Amino acid sequence: MNSILKQDLDNFENILEKTKQQGIDFLNDIENIPTSNTYTINPKTALNELGLGSIEALKEFNERLSPLMVSSPGPRYWGFVTGGSTPASIVGDWLASIYDQNTQAVKAQGGASALIEFETINLLLQLLDLPDTFLGGFVTGATMSNFTSLGVARQWFGKQFGKDFAKDGISETVNILTATPHSSSIKCLSLLGIGSQNYTTVKTIEGNREALDIADLEENIKKLEGKPFILISSAGTVNTADFDDFEAIAILKEKYNFWWHIDGAFGGFAAVSDKYNHLVKGWEGADSITIDCHKWLNVPYESAFFLIKKDHINLQVETFQNSNAPYLGNPLENFNYLNVLPENSRRLRALPAWFSLKAYGKEG
Ligand SMILES: *Cc1c(COP(=O)(O)O)cnc(C)c1O
Repeated sequence: MNSILKQDLDNFENILEKTKQQGIDFLNDIENIPTSNTYTINPKTALNELGLGSIEALKEFNERLSPLMVSSPGPRYWGFVTGGSTPASIVGDWLASIYDQNTQAVKAQGGASALIEFETINLLLQLLDLPDTFLGGFVTGATMSNFTSLGVARQWFGKQFGKDFAKDGISETVNILTATPHSSSIKCLSLLGIGSQNYTTVKTIEGNREALDIADLEENIKKLEGKPFILISSAGTVNTADFDDFEAIAILKEKYNFWWHIDGAFGGFAAVSDKYNHLVKGWEGADSITIDCHKWLNVPYESAFFLIKKDHINLQVETFQNSNAPYLGNPLENFNYLNVLPENSRRLRALPAWFSLKAYGKEG
């Protein structure tokens, strides 16, 4: 074994102790650390033939790199829609690294850590007062959650024409209606081959609102003359935190054939507030929902989940199935996350959220 690595293993407890103390010092000092800085480094250092060992690497990190760190987990940081990390979520994050599971299958490959992800999703459904008719999974952020959801929506759209877009590529114009989508949904349209310009902008409600004007939405639906479409709606727009009227959309869904996606990256958490949960009333009728945990749930980056109706599991597997993976009958029974989302290998990303939910409960 490499002698420095051996030294590190022998000294592991001390290394982790130093790291822990450094973390505590940072968080205790968060009020005094700037929210932005102009400090820079030359990112082109040479890779040494011999390593430094963790303690020396930590010293170099502290000298050169740690001054780049801003107080983004603190309360004075207003860049992005952001969040900090609760103590429990840090426990979960550290343990996710230490256990280092490759969270995929429920029954195979020598580990069942996907069950922890199922359990966490189940807790989140209870938190958000949503039914367990949704299949959920963790991805890095709301962008990837939107991507996963809209990927399945694209497959659904093709099926309305008897086509398999996942296999054969897109051969129909995919109709997208939306009012004030987050820029990440537009990025997804680009990534999914639909085209970042190929959507119809529905009017917003008068009076400086960002929510869909439902009458104009129905006008636009009628213009499609019965053709299917994908609706990208918002539970919390980033500029003004506006919410689309989900009860009205649910009524339209009874009349027209569309995939209903809700981007609730931060606004979905309105569901936990007696004062604001009317804003998400009816959202359980959506086909897919995006929520970020690294915003309002205050777990470390990278943590978001998608919720997609279990009825769509076959479309989801068609979209994300590994082409060389044997198809194992019922995809819900022989479940493997690599067949339902973009990534193959993935960390136990649910664990920080699991710890926060267990540690602080609904009230927290
Ligand atoms: C933050 C946000 C996103 C993008 O989320 P990431 O976690 O940065 O990928 C998408 N939609 C909304 C409404 C957001 O607030």
